[in-house]
Amino acid sequence: MEKDQKLREIKLFAPATVANLSCGYDVLGCCLDNVGDEMLIRKNDKKQIRISKITGQDLPMEADKNVAGVAAKALLTALGESQGFDIEIEKNIKAGSGIGSSAASAAGAVFGINKLLGTPFSNIELIKFAMEGERLASGNAHADNVAPALLGGFSLVKSYNPLEVLSLPNLPELRMLILHPQIELKTKDSRSIIRQNLELQKAINQWGNLAALVSALYTKDYELLGRSLKDEIIEPVRSILIPYFDELKTLSAANGALGFGISGSGPSVFAMCKGDKTAEKLKAEFQEFYADKNIDFDLHLSKINSEGIKVL
Ligand code: ADP
Repeated sequence: MEKDQKLREIKLFAPATVANLSCGYDVLGCCLDNVGDEMLIRKNDKKQIRISKITGQDLPMEADKNVAGVAAKALLTALGESQGFDIEIEKNIKAGSGIGSSAASAAGAVFGINKLLGTPFSNIELIKFAMEGERLASGNAHADNVAPALLGGFSLVKSYNPLEVLSLPNLPELRMLILHPQIELKTKDSRSIIRQNLELQKAINQWGNLAALVSALYTKDYELLGRSLKDEIIEPVRSILIPYFDELKTLSAANGALGFGISGSGPSVFAMCKGDKTAEKLKAEFQEFYADKNIDFDLHLSKINSEGIKVL
């Protein structure tokens, strides 16, 4: 603790995350390995949180309008701490992509500041501060991106009130292929189209799948994991907003993916695969399919990152 408190700055990799994972709306997420932002956090003598630099994206520099600033302030308020910090963000994850751009910044800020203050909080305890950043970004303090960013692997939000988050086992051969069609889709908007009431039968199917997914991770059953990646509640409504969703889903199944669904609130979609060979082949198929659709897109292929945020 003493040693960390003398640290004046810290450089971090703040990972992208995939929330919901079909059957776990607002309660399930996983952490990506080679997709993410870099952050540099430095103590200042101004007793203020300042967003000193952002590269790669046009985002608010005002601390109260940036999720990193809001999350950082929530942490410092809880500690009654007056130390100030400068936060630099190199954005590689596009805001509004659906792979936890806001979560990476919020989680990175609280993780870095916590380290520079001698680690008064555990990573689990940091989740609630990072969630304040999510409240700013989408109007809803959800944890299914910030939890896996902070804890790595798969996270399950057992309850929000009180907040209880569980880490689930990772499976080493899992690969996540992400396609981000660059259309604008705000989390606020894609949340607003979701119906607030649902049929009991659909709920039964959904919680059956979510429980089976948890079992599959514990028993290392890749096939069961694939069969559990189903969403009868959110996907039928939201997928309409995502260009060529059905075609990509069919392509994924035809090429041996375990499952396919919307990443977070979209527009990104994910295909979960077992092994590099299947994932690389599907990546080439997605590339070819989307190339003539007149929509700019990014493709990312990643392992599941068991560690979460990394100190660089
Ligand atoms: P994502 O699911 O990719 O995180 P959201 O729509 O949830 O996308 O969040 C993006 C929103 O958060 C945008 O309105 C953006 O301006 C705002 N925002 C504020 N600060 C940041 C930040 N540091 N990183 C990303 N988005 C930010």
